[in-house]
Parts: sequence; structure tokens; C-alpha cells
Amino acid sequence: YAAKDRRESFIVYDAAFDRESEANLALLSELRHARDNGELRLHLQPKVDLKSGRIAGAEALLRWVHPQRGLIPPGRFIPYAEDTPIIKDLTLWVFEAAVREQPSLRAHGIGRVSINLSARDLMDLDLPAKLDALLSKHGAEASGLCLETTESAVMGDIARAQQTLTRLRERGYKLSIDDFGEGQTSMRYLKDLPVHELKVDMVFIKGMQTDPRTEYIVKALIEVGHQYGLSVVAEGVENAAVALRLAELGCNEGQGWHFGKPMPADELYRWARAWTAREEQGQPA
Ligand code: C2E
Ligand code: MG
Ligand code: MG
Ligand code: MG
Repeated sequence: YAAKDRRESFIVYDAAFDRESEANLALLSELRHARDNGELRLHLQPKVDLKSGRIAGAEALLRWVHPQRGLIPPGRFIPYAEDTPIIKDLTLWVFEAAVREQPSLRAHGIGRVSINLSARDLMDLDLPAKLDALLSKHGAEASGLCLETTESAVMGDIARAQQTLTRLRERGYKLSIDDFGEGQTSMRYLKDLPVHELKVDMVFIKGMQTDPRTEYIVKALIEVGHQYGLSVVAEGVENAAVALRLAELGCNEGQGWHFGKPMPADELYRWARAWTAREEQGQPA
């Protein structure tokens, strides 16, 4: 009986899996047309300097407005897109959208935009040339852009990723390692990556509030980051107490709902005006 039960539950599971992968395939084929149908949106989330309280930059985060399903968050489609070459088109779309927005961002005191790169982008030796072409199309400069990558994106082929990152660095881009500490290999490869910034994964920042032992990890990551000459950014800063503690620990920048959620550019500009007015009144971050 036990064996039969197991078998049946396996079949049920399998069918559910097939349905899920069918739904994902359908989503992927729609995603192929999302760009040309004008369904992609650029959202931007502010990054704040924890010491001065000034706006340090913004991260570009992709949104898909599906004609039937409405707003689809990136967690629902990016992982599938990453299994296909579609991700490379998405990256270029986000990059160009961010570059196009840059003059306005700068006018609102936001000097740098961060863009997320996936594994396939890093494996693409033509990526630097493609980005260059978009920069010159819009008269933009690499120094105003930061490219974020994760350790899992790098791990597929560390030598090749290093090569792409080094080329990007030579061109003047700022480079960042995202979700740091989430994977298993972080410490082992950090010293070999030519990055400027380390973003401490949100789990540690959220965990800090409830577990002092998690704060020791954050402290250690800030320390290692600084020893390597990196700027350390905390993601997932959800309240003032965490922002304050991170500032005390010497963390350079914070990003999270406490400061502002990802939002369309015009909303970010309203946010930036309010933030700067508040800051001029001497209120803490
Ligand atoms: P990420 O690059 O680590 O981006 C940070 C994620 O944390 C964003 O989720 C952001 O909305 C969320 N977040 C920020 N502050 C808080 C907070 O205080 N609390 C909580 N709970 N969450 C916070 P989002 O926008 O849903 O994006 C998820 C992931 O999807 C990103 O993680 C990134 O890996 C990927 N992604 C988004 N846009 C792009 C893109 O244009 N290209 C690529 N390759 N990946 C992207
Ligand atoms: Mg990111
Ligand atoms: Mg992250
Ligand atoms: Mg992430």
C-alpha cells in the first residue's frame, strides 16, 4: 500500500509539474513579444547614503505589465527568461531605459543608476560593445552606471565572468556583487572579482532585527567589504532602527522600503524632492 500511495502521489506531483512548466512556456512565449508590445516598465528604487542621508543612486528593476494578468513581478518571469537568450534582450531594454532616464535622474540629484546583469550577459563577450553602442546612442557615460551581478551568475564560468567584468570596469562602469552571502561560494571568490560594491543579501538585514547572531554576520560582511576597498550596501532596510544600526556599523548605503519602494521615474522624482526637503530640515535617514 505504501508503495502504491507513493506512486500515486508522485503521479499527481508530476502532472502538477507539467501544468506549471506549460504555463511557464506560455508565459515565456508572451514575454518574447512583451518588449515590442510596449509591456515592459522601468521601476527605480532609491539608494541612500547612511551617513549623510543623501540620495546615493537608484536601482533599475524591471516590471512587466501583462495585458490580461496585469503587473507581473520579476521573480515570476526573470528566472525563466534566464534559461533562454530572451534575458539578454531584457537586459539591453532595461539598460537603455535607464540610460534614457539618466539626465532627469541627474537633475533630481540621483547621480548613478544600477542595472542587474544575468549569467548569460556575463558569458557574452560582446556585452561591453553592445552597452557601448547604447551609451553613445544617448550620449551617456559609463561612470554614471553601476552593473550588478550575483555570485551565482559568476559561478557558471568564473574565468569568463571575470573577463567580462574586467572589460566593463576598464570602460568606467561601477560594478557590484548583488545578494552577497546568499550563495555558498561568496567568500571564496570575492577577492577575485573586480567589483566596487558589495550588496549584503536581504536575509541578513531582515534577520538582524530579531537575531543578534545575524548582526554579527552583517558586521563581518561590512568589515570584509571595507578591507577589500568596497562600498557596502544593505538591501531590504525596512525600518528606521535597522537603518540606524547599519549606519553605526559603518555600512555605506541602504536600500529598502524604509527609504522607498521601486517606483516609476516620475514618482521617484516626487520622492526625491520630498526626501531632500526632509533632509534639509535635518531629519535623520
Ligand atoms: P535584486 O536585484 O536583489 O533586487 C532587490 C529586490 O528586493 C527587488 O525585488 C526589490 O523590490 C526588493 N526589495 C527592495 N527593498 C525591499 C525591502 O525593504 N523589503 C523587501 N521585502 N523587498 C525589498 P524585485 O523588484 O521584485 O526584483 C527581484 C529580483 O528580480 C531582483 O533582485 C533581480 O534579481 C531580478 N531583477 C529585477 N529586475 C531585473 C532586471 O532588469 N534584470 C535582471 N537580470 N534581473 C532583474
Ligand atoms: Mg540588484
Ligand atoms: Mg539583491
Ligand atoms: Mg536578487
